[in-house]
Amino acid sequence: MTDECLRRIMDNTPVPCVLRNSKLEFMYANKALVDLFELADFAEFDARRAELMPPFQPDGSPSEDKLNALMADVLSGDDLKVEWLYCRDDGELLFMETTVLRVEVDGEPHILKYMNDVRDSRKSRVNERLSRQRLQAIVDHCPIACGMVDEHFNVIEINNEVLALFDITSKPTFEERFFEFSPEYQPDGQLSRRKALDKLKQAFEAGRIRYEWLHQRLFGEQIPCEVTLVRVRFEDRQAAVIYISDLRETKNSIAMMEKMQTIAFTDELTQLFNRRYFMQNAIAKLEVCKANNEYFHLIMADLDHFKGINDTYGHPIGDEVLKITAKRIIGVTRKSNLIARYGGEEFIVMLTDMDYEGAVNNARRIQKAMEESPIVIKGMSLGLTVSLGVATLDVPGDSLDDIINKADIALYGAKRTGRNKVMEYKDAKDLKW
Ligand code: GH3
Ligand code: MG
Ligand code: MG
Repeated sequence: MTDECLRRIMDNTPVPCVLRNSKLEFMYANKALVDLFELADFAEFDARRAELMPPFQPDGSPSEDKLNALMADVLSGDDLKVEWLYCRDDGELLFMETTVLRVEVDGEPHILKYMNDVRDSRKSRVNERLSRQRLQAIVDHCPIACGMVDEHFNVIEINNEVLALFDITSKPTFEERFFEFSPEYQPDGQLSRRKALDKLKQAFEAGRIRYEWLHQRLFGEQIPCEVTLVRVRFEDRQAAVIYISDLRETKNSIAMMEKMQTIAFTDELTQLFNRRYFMQNAIAKLEVCKANNEYFHLIMADLDHFKGINDTYGHPIGDEVLKITAKRIIGVTRKSNLIARYGGEEFIVMLTDMDYEGAVNNARRIQKAMEESPIVIKGMSLGLTVSLGVATLDVPGDSLDDIINKADIALYGAKRTGRNKVMEYKDAKDLKW
């Protein structure tokens, strides 16, 4: 199906629907959706996407993460149906039964989402009860301190995370002593009570606000927090869902996440990037290079007769060899290029800041760096060589896998014609084995 044809079908569909491409980028939304959310045009849906969802879905997952995960699932597998919570500008929470499909548009996979407004399909009285239950579910399942307050900041509901945050055991204690959980004055000198009501007013006007707030426990321990207020309608009243995150924890968890990411993307032995990180980055970089007509070359390197090193000296010495090899590759390659451990004793380098000759020369430098000086470990001198294959982006339609495949063919060519050498794909492809 063509893009134009699909948009025509969407425009004539009375059910709200949205189209995204395989990078999960927003492409189009139909008129039914624009009307439902009372938007000016379809682009506004994307621009304000974060505002049109509560920060967490009723099961407690962060909305943005969950949405991306769902869409990625659909791209790689089956179509699915989920209930999704949106939040309209007027504070109305919209439960949408959402059907997510994978469709081909102009030969590329895309994601098409249909939304069915669950409110319409049930009687309004039933609905009211449901919405109360569901608001309760939002609060209960939220993984951070969360509650609901009315327009005077009276507490309607809180979850157990609030009790944990303030180190108390009963919900009535929180409701009755609400203002004792903040110092009288905020660090900017404003009276906490007045400032809280101002913030609530702003949330009712803007739909949602986020601000820093100093809370405290009853025995005085201060808790710097970030508060998000989201306007909602509750039993025909204005109300706000309040999310309180302990900034001390957030800071810890940001540090933790950064650390975990480093672990997830690094090869433990050599400290080079691992294959997963390489693939993610190289795919993105290849697209940029294609779009801007820039150079993109790959070098695949594989140690020669490495198995013999393990067999003769043992695995730990083999590991040392891999570490030293990684350092030698780094030593002769510009920092701006991406080096990764691709597999056991295989390395891959992506080069984008030089012409093709430069890439071939880089491969030769790696080959020489190994050949010219033996690796010395525990007084033993080990002569090791490496074979390398070079391939480049010269066919516009080539994917990353295609170019890796070409570099692999070139590497195989180097192995088959004697090892300890650099071979280019253009010379390897016609070799007769
Ligand atoms: P060729 O020249 O054809 O590449 O021969 P080779 O012996 O290097 O190739 P082969 O693929 O047969 O062997 C690779 C060996 O690398 C096998 C495996 O035991 C070893 N290896 C893979 N990962 C590691 C590792 O992390 N540490 C160590 N010490 N050895 C590893
Ligand atoms: Mg190998
Ligand atoms: Mg090898």
